[in-house]
Amino acid sequence: TVGVQTIDLVKDYGSGPGAVRALAGLSVSAERNRFTAIMGPSGSGKSTLLHCMAGLDAPTSGRVLLGPTDLTQLPEKKLTKLRRDRIGFVFQSYALLPQLSVKQNITLPLEVAGRKVDGQWLKTVVEALDLGRVLKQRPTRLSGGQQQRVAMARALLPRPDVVFADEPTGALDATTAREMLQFLRTSVHELGQTIVMVTHDPLAAEHTDHVLLLHQGALAAQIANPTAPVVL
Ligand code: ADP
Ligand code: ADP
Repeated sequence: TVGVQTIDLVKDYGSGPGAVRALAGLSVSAERNRFTAIMGPSGSGKSTLLHCMAGLDAPTSGRVLLGPTDLTQLPEKKLTKLRRDRIGFVFQSYALLPQLSVKQNITLPLEVAGRKVDGQWLKTVVEALDLGRVLKQRPTRLSGGQQQRVAMARALLPRPDVVFADEPTGALDATTAREMLQFLRTSVHELGQTIVMVTHDPLAAEHTDHVLLLHQGALAAQIANPTAPVVL
């Protein structure tokens, strides 16, 4: 398992006088086998940081280290392979494929990677996220909260080293959100995964080990979470 570190990360959208500096030289780390939350007001750069950390978006300058590997130096092909083999991403928009069933959506990344589905783990994930009754349905027929849980199941099934999630509880009611967060927490320690989550929700952040608080693309504060028990 690995952690993720950024060094002097700058991300500009556009160029010239109209450019927006979304990340202003940010050096942060999400440690291995820890659950890290990224928080901050709207527009503070949370999603941009998450996308850069996951190698989905190229920074303007600076470095992103996944373990010893600098993602910003990898050729596109190697980056694609690394994302496929070692990273799970939960998009804020879910990004589910409407023509496939829920189960096909969940198992697709493994099939694309030519890997076997671990039936026992599939069952565990499906039960923890309460998706057993909708596996055969199309995602378009599900509620937002159900689609969000499908997106999480899809990211967790390949047991990636690092799971990145953009507001993974945004569409869930409080009880369902707590269940998902508790499952993420168990999976962090039992599977030795690193989880990095963007959230607006202080209650969600309480389930994490560490909070990175952003303001205008810079680190305003970081808080080691005293309420979450860290089990090693
Ligand atoms: P947050 O996730 O904290 O709301 P974002 O990372 O989405 O912040 O955005 C940070 C800043 O970058 C904001 O000013 C936003 O408007 C801008 N931004 C984000 N994505 C784009 C984009 N694709 N093009 C132009 N500006 C963008
Ligand atoms: P978030 O909740 O992460 O802040 P936003 O509503 O800011 O989400 O952004 C949603 C999408 O729109 C993202 O893909 C982001 O990159 C893009 N985006 C955000 N701000 C801008 C902008 N000023 N111009 C173009 N795209 C933007």
